[in-house]
Amino acid sequence: MIKLYLKKKKVYKKEYNRINKETINTKRREHYQKNKPKELAYAKRYNLEHKEERKIYKEKNKEKIRLKNKEYREKNKEVIRIKNKEYHQRPEIKIHHNSYMKTYYQIPKVKAQKKEYSKKYKIKNRDKINKYKRERHHKNKEKMNLISRNYYSNHKKERSIYGKNYYKKNKPKILKTVKNYQNNNKPKINLRRKEYRSNHKEEIRIKKKEYYKNNSPKISLYWKKYRKENKPLLDKRKEKWRKNNPEKVRLLHQKRRLKERSIIHNFSIKEWEEKVKNQNGICPICLTKYSKTIPEKRLTQDHTPAITKVPKGYIYTINEVTPICFRCNLIKNNKNISYEQLKQLVKE
Ligand SMILES: [Zn+2]
Repeated sequence: MIKLYLKKKKVYKKEYNRINKETINTKRREHYQKNKPKELAYAKRYNLEHKEERKIYKEKNKEKIRLKNKEYREKNKEVIRIKNKEYHQRPEIKIHHNSYMKTYYQIPKVKAQKKEYSKKYKIKNRDKINKYKRERHHKNKEKMNLISRNYYSNHKKERSIYGKNYYKKNKPKILKTVKNYQNNNKPKINLRRKEYRSNHKEEIRIKKKEYYKNNSPKISLYWKKYRKENKPLLDKRKEKWRKNNPEKVRLLHQKRRLKERSIIHNFSIKEWEEKVKNQNGICPICLTKYSKTIPEKRLTQDHTPAITKVPKGYIYTINEVTPICFRCNLIKNNKNISYEQLKQLVKE
């Protein structure tokens, strides 16, 4: 009879506990908070007294405890995070923790582990890290630029050595990256180059001149080799250019003829341009106005007397050259005729 009663009581108690779980827990917590030192001391004593038992229990229920812990952590993630943060924010803990971590990370095994882990993490989260870096850089652009500028100017020598070594080691990779970037950003790069060139004209000119001066044998050798290796292509290009630029070809011929026969122009380009301006850019033979801006439509130099008729070393003055159009000059073609006669020829 008593046994049955006890059993009934046990079942009833269990049921009661289940239903009133929250209230009981709150009550317990309150009691614990109220009597904390006492409770802590008790727990400490109890743990010490039951050390062996606890150890055995833990060993026996390893998996169960692990799962339970895990579940608890999952469930109370936010609470644990905040608690942890608060705990680590305490100054005495901060100092202690920092010094502890410092010595902890000095252990070779831990060091290697950490390195391995961060390597893995970096590979796995590359996009995320890059995005974060970009954002951070964008946010603190001025500050970061200043820092890196300072660093570079203070470590010029080391940086240069490091960069050289790095390039040597990773040449194919770097070249591939550069090429990829160039292929994907052509318009942007071209614009930037154009801008730079127009902003640094004089600087570039001086640099180029200096470079040619210091490397002229090397450069001429390079071009010689290039011309030899690409002859068919260059010939084709040349032919096309000649077809498209008859006026320039004629000028080149004239220049060569002048040089061969040591003929000198005793006037400046400015004087010549003045003369063209005085004619309002109009050809005196066919009276057509020609554009100064289009090279093919510029007025050309007509020599009187003709170049083929003068002796070697003849000196032309500005009064012996006349601006006439390319077409009329082509018709005249070294004939020793007057402009009246040429006008007739052009009309026909
Ligand atoms: Zn003309």
